[in-house]
Amino acid sequence: MSAPDAPKPLTFALLRRLADGEFHSGEVLARQFGVTRATVCNALHDVGHLGLTLYSVRGRGYRLARPLQWLDAALIRSSLGAAGDGLHIEILDHASSSNALLLQRSSQGAPGGTVLAVEWQTAGRGRLGRTWHSGLGDTLTFSVLWRFGGGLATLSGLSLAVGVAMMRALHELGIAGAGLKWPNDVLLNNGKLAGILIEAQGDMLGPSAVVIGIGLNLTVPEAMRELIGQPASDLTSLDMPQAERNQVLAVSLKHLAAVLHGFSHGGFAPLRDEWERHHVFQGRMVKMLMPDGSHVSGTVLGVTDDGVLRLLTGQGEQLFNAGEVSLRSA
Ligand code: ATP
Repeated sequence: MSAPDAPKPLTFALLRRLADGEFHSGEVLARQFGVTRATVCNALHDVGHLGLTLYSVRGRGYRLARPLQWLDAALIRSSLGAAGDGLHIEILDHASSSNALLLQRSSQGAPGGTVLAVEWQTAGRGRLGRTWHSGLGDTLTFSVLWRFGGGLATLSGLSLAVGVAMMRALHELGIAGAGLKWPNDVLLNNGKLAGILIEAQGDMLGPSAVVIGIGLNLTVPEAMRELIGQPASDLTSLDMPQAERNQVLAVSLKHLAAVLHGFSHGGFAPLRDEWERHHVFQGRMVKMLMPDGSHVSGTVLGVTDDGVLRLLTGQGEQLFNAGEVSLRSA
């Protein structure tokens, strides 16, 4: 399936105006943007593929089914305060994938601490070529570039460390019931709340650059659940005031930066106990799916200081590297 076309700048400008979820007359919008009503109609014609529902009512104008929360870099910077020192935050209306773009920027010399948050991804990615689905305003999709003095070999356990940072962020946001699934998922009430995708550049001896991509659901519309194909959860369905996207991003960045600073000195080992406490499958029977389609069953003992999964199987303890292996409940 080919990626959908990127929307026009006018579409985003109009959607910003419609973000309040109120009716806006097509005639007034046309006047405000100095275009014809037909151009407005054309720019809003296909917003369904952004995951939005737009009502168009004769005599009243256009209205989004739900208000839209836009990201605001200045707001995020001010709520981060000193915790944002060393972070360079940029927000884009759209990109194929925040990770792909940041990897490109990294090879062109972007500084460590660069953060790219993308309002809408045309080709979001998961592990092993899988797809990350997101609708405009419904998901936070952002990537952080971090530069490490050590080589690629010193990065094992990094995706687990990022999971710990996200758990700390959710805790600060007052979200209970979240947990981790080895190696890279954040779960909430048995559904996937967030995915983490780590992509590294560099060599074994260093230095290395890592792009850490995170997709976190604020709302998962019904239509998207079918595409996702596994249980997904979101913050909106929690019995709490609607999560504010800017705040969720700011708090996540604060904890990520702290964990990444710590990781560059001590690696994953100091976070291991905390990670195991959050592991939903700790002490449980699971199946490890292997690349050849076979599977190995056993009880999760925990992880090593490098983030390798320890499983007690019929043959004794076996170790699993994240590589191409997936953990599933037994
Ligand atoms: P693994 O255990 O191997 O990591 P995974 O299914 O979690 O398996 P990932 O590569 O981590 O795989 O994530 C991609 C998968 O996440 C997709 O195949 C899809 O099932 C799921 N997914 C995609 N978009 C979303 C979303 N917005 N919310 C929750 N899950 C999603």
